[in-house]
Amino acid sequence: MAIINSVFKTAQYNLMQTAERIGLEENLLRKLAVPKEKIEQRLTPLLSNGKLANIEIYIVRHNDTLGPSKGGIRMTSSVSMEEVVGLSMEMTWKTSLMGVPFGGGKTGIRFAPETVNSTDKEVIIRSVARSAKRHFGPELYIPAPDMGTNETDMGHIRDCISYSEGTSITRGCFVTGKPIILGGIAGRRQATGRGVVYTTVAACKKLGLNIQGLKVAIQGFGNVGSEAAIEFHNQGAKIIAVSDASGMLFNDKGLDIGRLCQHAKSNRGLISSFSGAESASREEFFGVLCDCLVPAAAGSQITADNVSKIKAKIISEGANAPTTPEADEVLNDNGIFVIPDILCNGGGVFVSYLEYIQETQHEQMTESQVKTRLYEKMTSCFDDVYNYAHDKKATMRKASMDLAVGRVVAGIKARGLLP
Ligand code: NAD
Repeated sequence: MAIINSVFKTAQYNLMQTAERIGLEENLLRKLAVPKEKIEQRLTPLLSNGKLANIEIYIVRHNDTLGPSKGGIRMTSSVSMEEVVGLSMEMTWKTSLMGVPFGGGKTGIRFAPETVNSTDKEVIIRSVARSAKRHFGPELYIPAPDMGTNETDMGHIRDCISYSEGTSITRGCFVTGKPIILGGIAGRRQATGRGVVYTTVAACKKLGLNIQGLKVAIQGFGNVGSEAAIEFHNQGAKIIAVSDASGMLFNDKGLDIGRLCQHAKSNRGLISSFSGAESASREEFFGVLCDCLVPAAAGSQITADNVSKIKAKIISEGANAPTTPEADEVLNDNGIFVIPDILCNGGGVFVSYLEYIQETQHEQMTESQVKTRLYEKMTSCFDDVYNYAHDKKATMRKASMDLAVGRVVAGIKARGLLP
């Protein structure tokens, strides 16, 4: 197998493999292998140091067969058009697998958010919103937070769009993951991390493992990683290792997650200099002796180079495309149970769908209603994939992809192939 070391190549590879397994016709494969729309823009907002920033943005709508495209806004110094294309394709499969009426999309802002203060970040986000507004919309593409963006940014996007219309609210849902006070939904911030835990609990039941005392290691302590840590802790698991951009913490007796969250809050989101744990370099993360390993940072982290170090029984993919295909084969050969990204981290897009409904119907769901619906959705999707995998003697990743791509294809056929 040629070396596949990027999110884009992983997405392409997974689609090609699926096409072969499900016998996808050539012309339908051609339709799904490329995005429907790719937009590139350059922005030069004025920052507080008196200089113009130089920012590229990429907006991709991969597919809208099952509904408007849905997918987060990634803001990092390295994001590229190619990465955004790969991530938008992943979103098409994820929305399909989760059974929500959306297609797949993604936005990239090529800029390191950690290099600016909150005022300058707001300037950049508003500049993006103004420029990208005509590509966003409840019937077209609805963004949400992803790496480097959060609910504050989504609030600013919503404000910028309604302000430019001269109205108090937007016409329908232009963005999800907003602050609750602006029409966001209770439990959206927690949704992806909670979904990761709910699918892990479902996996434990199938594998005869107990969530109580399960030793968990989490890579990334941003939105997904920290919320998964809180929910794992609530369910009785023990978080023995956490890594982020600043390093790694280890404590075999279990980290004090409440205190770590407080520490990160007052330390620019970083876990470094936390007391009550051994510090290590983040490269040591994959060698940690644990039951469950949760990649919740960037893509292509589990590779042919580090996969043999992994001793976990379960990998719960909180991040998008964290495992390269070569590494995936090794995990499978080693009998490690992988809960693939499009299933494991689908809780975020499911609760975004609830936010979309809430905004359309001018209603407000409670956090307990959201949690119940999230739990039911994650466990029923897990069961669908598990049963399919069992019937076809396939891995969970292959089963997820077969089901997800199969539904999009059914949608294309139902619409008809004419333009
Ligand atoms: P975030 O920006 O809130 O957090 C990212 C975290 O990763 C930070 O703690 C950062 O320090 C850490 N990190 C970066 N590089 C690292 C490295 N080399 N080693 C260890 N840690 C590193 O982002 P997020 O929203 O939590 O997203 C994390 C992942 O989950 C991404 O792959 C994203 O696409 C995926 N995801 C997010 C959501 C969501 O709702 N936010 C939904 C589905 C999937």
